[in-house]
Amino acid sequence: LPPAPVAVLQHADAAALLPLPGAESDKYRRGVVGVAAGSARYPGAAVLAVAGALRGGAGAVRYAGTAAAEVVRRFPEALVTAGGPAEAGRVQAWVVGPGSGEGVRELLPEVLAADVPVLVDADGLAELARLGPDALAGRSAPTLLTPHTGEEARLLAGAEGGAPPAADGLAAARRATARRLAAAYRATVLLKGSTTVVAEPDGTVRVNPTGTSWLATAGSGDVLSGLAGSLMAAGLGPLDAGAVAAHLHGLAGRTAAAGAPAAALDVAEALPEAWRTVRSAG
Ligand code: AMP
Ligand code: MG
Repeated sequence: LPPAPVAVLQHADAAALLPLPGAESDKYRRGVVGVAAGSARYPGAAVLAVAGALRGGAGAVRYAGTAAAEVVRRFPEALVTAGGPAEAGRVQAWVVGPGSGEGVRELLPEVLAADVPVLVDADGLAELARLGPDALAGRSAPTLLTPHTGEEARLLAGAEGGAPPAADGLAAARRATARRLAAAYRATVLLKGSTTVVAEPDGTVRVNPTGTSWLATAGSGDVLSGLAGSLMAAGLGPLDAGAVAAHLHGLAGRTAAAGAPAAALDVAEALPEAWRTVRSAG
């Protein structure tokens, strides 16, 4: 692919993309985001993904999985089902993979079969790397993959064969590898790290510098996944959803941390302040 011009969103660009309710909106028209995350072993990932999803602009968050009790205890506003995604009722975009554990083998194909945008993260990416790009070949709606560098290396090995490339080599060439991954899986890729790169299969790239290294904390990626999935449910395409989510998540990390350690849930709770910061510039 030829080099692409790199776009960095300014606050006003992000503001113009935020999904705002209209006077006649109802919760369903604002979009329902489905979260298929967490497991008996990792219930917290479900809670964190739902925490992000509740602050991404969708009108409702529907949780499908085995951590329903933990989710609803923390977030009574979440709609929960202990069944799988297929029984969950209507959903405009799915988030799958954070903390899913071994259950992801059944879960991932079930979610990918839905004719709506799907965000795949964490254990979902490990499973996708095992299956290879063919697992996405039948999809008609967009797919957004959100790897960190280690997950990216496995996905590249899953597409191109061979051993996973060394993670440090990838870090040095993040834009190029994000584009390569997007082309190989024909999916939008949000590559996480100190700067986040969002790449489309056609080579379009956006870079987000709003974050802070305080975001390098367990669970912060789960919050980002819920947030980006919620933006897709509210109608944003995967490139815009990824770029706006990274922008807001980075700002929220700065607000939550402000020179002291922040926990992932603090980042989720700082998201409304990030929206207000962005909107005041728009
Ligand atoms: P995960 O690896 O899935 O937990 O996601 C970590 C989140 O923290 C992603 O949004 C990363 O972009 C962000 N992050 C991790 N390390 C850094 C860093 N050094 N600077 C800025 N953001 C970071
Ligand atoms: Mg993660």
